[in-house]
Amino acid sequence: MIDYNEMSDADFRRKVRQFFETEYPEKLRHLSHRPKFAEIEDWHRKLHAKGWVAPAWPSEYGGMELNAAKLLIFYEEQQRWGVVRGRDMGVQMVGPLIIRFGTDAQKAHWLPRILSCEDIWCQGYSEPGAGSDLANLRTNAVIDGEEFVINGQKIWTTMAHDSTHIFMLARTDPKAPTKQQGISFILVPMDQPGVKVRTIATLAGETEFCEVFFDDARTPCENLVGELNKGWTMAKSLLGFERVFIGAPNLAQNALGQLESYARGAGRFDDPAFCERFAEVALDVEDHAALYARFADQLKRGEPLGPDVSMLKIWVTETFQKITELMIEAAGPDGGTLGPLQVGNAAVDVLAAFYKARPTTIYGGSNEIQRNILSKAVLRLPG
Ligand SMILES: Cc1cc2nc3c(=O)[nH]c(=O)nc-3n(C[C@H](O)[C@H](O)[C@H](O)COP(=O)(O)OP(=O)(O)OC[C@H]3O[C@@H](n4cnc5c(N)ncnc54)[C@H](O)[C@@H]3O)c2cc1C
Repeated sequence: MIDYNEMSDADFRRKVRQFFETEYPEKLRHLSHRPKFAEIEDWHRKLHAKGWVAPAWPSEYGGMELNAAKLLIFYEEQQRWGVVRGRDMGVQMVGPLIIRFGTDAQKAHWLPRILSCEDIWCQGYSEPGAGSDLANLRTNAVIDGEEFVINGQKIWTTMAHDSTHIFMLARTDPKAPTKQQGISFILVPMDQPGVKVRTIATLAGETEFCEVFFDDARTPCENLVGELNKGWTMAKSLLGFERVFIGAPNLAQNALGQLESYARGAGRFDDPAFCERFAEVALDVEDHAALYARFADQLKRGEPLGPDVSMLKIWVTETFQKITELMIEAAGPDGGTLGPLQVGNAAVDVLAAFYKARPTTIYGGSNEIQRNILSKAVLRLPG
């Protein structure tokens, strides 16, 4: 078993970079859509064989057990080379919860199947009346003998149509004194008559999201993770690293690179007004990268992150949107064209970049919610 944390940062970065550059299929670089598992299965098998599916998991469960510094390097290299995130809700979300709160039997059963992608997971939290205010959720699970019987609906469930299992929050005690209490975290197989999945097409025409309907769906009681009615604090405990990762600079940096390619190819740098706006967004990207480096250093020193980390996500996503809006404007009438635009030697998909930027201010805690956090917990403004 290799202890990657023993390596110097530079050596580790070289190793990861070399693996991605030599092994990652060119046709999967910088995908503009979330792929189905079949599309990336071969790549997944390679990662699995190398033991690199779960960089943050402890080695006893098949992970790489990287410390914060190495983890950041791993993800930076992944993003730099345009390596797909894959179907990672098992690895990023439900796996860590099972490791922390699951029984030994749950760990032995589920964790290897997450790594091999024998089970492919989706996240069932949001509902039509419960997004930012997630504790409002109404999908309920009632114990019937040895099973939970589930009724209700989830929405915006990413890739549910290509998943075998859903981890979900369901109300198990409707009489609990507060709406955060009485919620449980349960694992549910999707291949059963009580679960129906309906896809929702995005603006870009992709079917990435779904609605998931539960009509007397069943799952064994042994698929409860943690204590009954205590799912809320558990599900919310998985912050930390994700809070810096979601604000990483790559989204804006990649878009700026695309904008630059487009503008060079289309001769837009001859226009002083365009140059001024380009400089503005380029400086925003630089400023954000400096801020990100500060938070990343904090993590590397093993220090906890404060609520001010919310700045990262707001800044990177809004800069990303500004860049893609400028790209559409720069493209003029061609800005509405589907597919890559050929300008000079470059082919830039202006519209796909624009569409990709739209939802980033919504997921992972919307930017309004991040601003609420900053105003209350950092600026101490009245609520
Ligand atoms: C790309 C993407 C992938 C997603 N994948 C999943 C998934 O796999 N599983 C899943 O469960 N969910 C998923 N979601 C759903 C996501 O978690 C919700 O969209 C998000 O929590 C916002 O909830 P909502 O859409 O219901 O909007 P609402 O909460 O109804 O918000 C609507 C608007 O009101 C604002 N708002 C709400 N409350 C406040 C407040 N207190 N103060 C100020 N403004 C407020 C919001 O910022 C937003 O602009 C995904 C969303 C996106 C965009």
